[in-house]
Amino acid sequence: MLSFLLTAGLCFVSTNEPPSHEEATKVVVKEGTRTSSKAVKHSPAVPEERAKTEKAEGAEEAPKTLPKPVRRVVRKPKPMHAPATLAASEAVQQRLMLDNVKLQQEVAQAQMRVLLENPILTPDAALAELVAGNKRFMDGKRVRSLMSNQDPAVRDSLIKGQAPFAVIITCSDSRLSDNLIFDQGLGRLFTIREAGNCPDIQGLASVEYAVEHLGSKLVVVLGHTACGAVKAVKEAHGKPMPGNLWSLQAAMAGIETEIHEDPNETPTEHLRRMERGNALRQARIIMDRSEIVRHLVAAGKVKVLPALYDLSTGRVTFMDLPAEAPAGHH
Ligand SMILES: [Zn+2]
Repeated sequence: MLSFLLTAGLCFVSTNEPPSHEEATKVVVKEGTRTSSKAVKHSPAVPEERAKTEKAEGAEEAPKTLPKPVRRVVRKPKPMHAPATLAASEAVQQRLMLDNVKLQQEVAQAQMRVLLENPILTPDAALAELVAGNKRFMDGKRVRSLMSNQDPAVRDSLIKGQAPFAVIITCSDSRLSDNLIFDQGLGRLFTIREAGNCPDIQGLASVEYAVEHLGSKLVVVLGHTACGAVKAVKEAHGKPMPGNLWSLQAAMAGIETEIHEDPNETPTEHLRRMERGNALRQARIIMDRSEIVRHLVAAGKVKVLPALYDLSTGRVTFMDLPAEAPAGHH
């Protein structure tokens, strides 16, 4: 429906003339699919009013850098009267849906070209891309991770190889997905996921592969609020956890003694500080244990950043990583 609204929007935004019969027809179609026939009769005819309607539907979200909309009829529907029968109405609806799919595919292919022609070349550009994608996610305006019509084009473009601009080391928690929260499609993020976002030796090897061979510019250690892994380690108070869970305690060793519970804070606040502390600690460990990463960071080609994802707001907050290596990890 988005593309269809955009199609209609092109006509409305770009002209101050009273609506022609053809445009009026489009209003009828658009309003008719959204509301009732009553709304159709009262669809605004004054240009300002129509502009407001478009704005309310988010049709003016195009970036400011784009050229002024040119009056261009993408598709020229025949003047259409309200279909007399249900079958006729459904046939019209089906035709509009097919048109919509075609338009979305055209937009998606154009987007793919733009993405491929503008690779991300620096750590700062990679960070800006993640921040922008996370904002779209928070605002409920995801684009790239929603455009399912671009899937075939993306797959085609990725057959020859991948060049993910960022490495995301994050928790296995089902309530977060890096591609969604950063609004990125296939081929954009190289992901390592384990409970508690503590990369083991294979995790470190994966990071090294991405930064050295795939050209990733940014390594993000992404913890999150209400992390069960951090909470379990916190509540074990140093007693060995069952099964293989001891390895989580080992990976977070010392976090409890480093981040003391303050009598003035709630258990949740303390857990939050531990979650932040763990992301910071794991980022430091990557720097400390990977000569390849250290070398690329020193050359300014890669950055390593800890971050925390808030389950309730959807916001990812990036933290600074101090230059010094952590004590006790040499
Ligand atoms: Zn977690």
